[in-house]
Amino acid sequence: MQLSDNSNNSFNFQQALEEEIKGFDPKNPPKQELIDSCVHCGFCLSTCPSYRVIGKEMDSPRGRIYLMDAINKGQAALDETTTQHFDSCLGCLACVSTCPAGVQYDGLIAATRPQVERNQPRNFADKIIRTIIFNLFPYPQRLKIFLPLLWVYQKLGIQKIIRATGLLKYLSPRLAAMDSILPEITLSSFKQTYPDVIPAQGKKRYRVGVVLGCVQRLFFSPVNEATVRVLTANGCEVVIPKTQGCCAALPAHQGQEKQAQALAKQMIDSFANTDVDYIIINAAGCGHTLKEYGHILADDPEYKEKGKQFSNQVKDIQEFLVEIGLTTPLNHLTDDNLTLVYQDACHLLHGQKISLQPRQILKQIPGITLKEPIDAALCCGSAGVYNMLQPEVADELGKQKVNNLMNTGAKLIASPNPGCSLQIKKHLNLQGKDIKVMHPMELLDYSIRGIKINL
Ligand code: SF4
Ligand code: SF4
Repeated sequence: MQLSDNSNNSFNFQQALEEEIKGFDPKNPPKQELIDSCVHCGFCLSTCPSYRVIGKEMDSPRGRIYLMDAINKGQAALDETTTQHFDSCLGCLACVSTCPAGVQYDGLIAATRPQVERNQPRNFADKIIRTIIFNLFPYPQRLKIFLPLLWVYQKLGIQKIIRATGLLKYLSPRLAAMDSILPEITLSSFKQTYPDVIPAQGKKRYRVGVVLGCVQRLFFSPVNEATVRVLTANGCEVVIPKTQGCCAALPAHQGQEKQAQALAKQMIDSFANTDVDYIIINAAGCGHTLKEYGHILADDPEYKEKGKQFSNQVKDIQEFLVEIGLTTPLNHLTDDNLTLVYQDACHLLHGQKISLQPRQILKQIPGITLKEPIDAALCCGSAGVYNMLQPEVADELGKQKVNNLMNTGAKLIASPNPGCSLQIKKHLNLQGKDIKVMHPMELLDYSIRGIKINL
């Protein structure tokens, strides 16, 4: 009888303890079999940017997998402390490339982020910055409203004064980080004049759709224009549906599940009935997400198959051009030979396993010498909106990346992702380095058109 009482007490105590520990909810928690595939060897640690900067096990892939395991088993809570270790992950996927056991950390962190967003309340400052980001950045039409204000902010020198006083950094390091990567607003940011269909030059080889991106279309419109010219010059008829919006990369990487699903569906619908052979994207982060629609819409009976079919049609521009082969003659970009360095964007290198193709394209341009930086596979710290949410870690990584790129002696940096370009430009400026950062498609377009680059 006594024994039985004790046993009941012990059970009740255990039950009470478990009730107190707030874990993952039942909706798609990180899968235990994926967690169990980690053999804890630690090979991934040295390639993990957050571990490199923060230096703590819990901010490494292995540490985060330990946390997921403990939360799944009710031994640790999903709370502010564990959340901060998940938040410190850049989602760069370098650990996926490195892991000898084939641990699918991408699936694990993708399952964890929506759990955090659903179950862990954000503090006031976090809420504000996240509300701004998620309600503004994925919507080009909303962003457009702010363009004239931002133009005035820059042209009247208000930005320079604010930066010089350090006021914004004092008020909010995250808002200051946002300001520090704000690209220059130019007249091209206001132009949105693509026809629905742009004919191929010469014999038509393919009919392709082009995704314009949200930030890319406003702040990097020359990259989109160059991409369209390169495609048409190489025999592609280009289709650009006006209804397309954001690819969903931004909310998907931050665990904003519903928003990501709504944007993915809108993208699928906008390309429905366009009868294109492929859907082309020139931004690394967007390309990775477009290829993930099958997963993002896995629980949607109507869109699950459509998502998979859409993703099967998606090609990164460089991947596509290597597959179809360039048919246009190429010219020198400068009077002398040009030494340049290509910066691997994580969502191309680790996310899509695309590293050779951009180099193959660039090497076809006459007079190009391509350099390789140390730590080419290490994230630059941009990682979507990571450099706004975690500016200190991002700044250290940005500094290291720029040092490594500059140490190659290159006279120009080629970057295939808008976020990486902004991050690298910021740290070039901070180091007082005046060197151009261009998308490989801009370089190819210049080469096709015989335009020389003014270094
Ligand atoms: S994720 Fe892979 S590399 Fe990292 S500790 Fe686990 S098994 Fe080793
Ligand atoms: S995704 Fe990148 S930052 Fe996150 S654990 Fe893997 S290597 Fe580290």
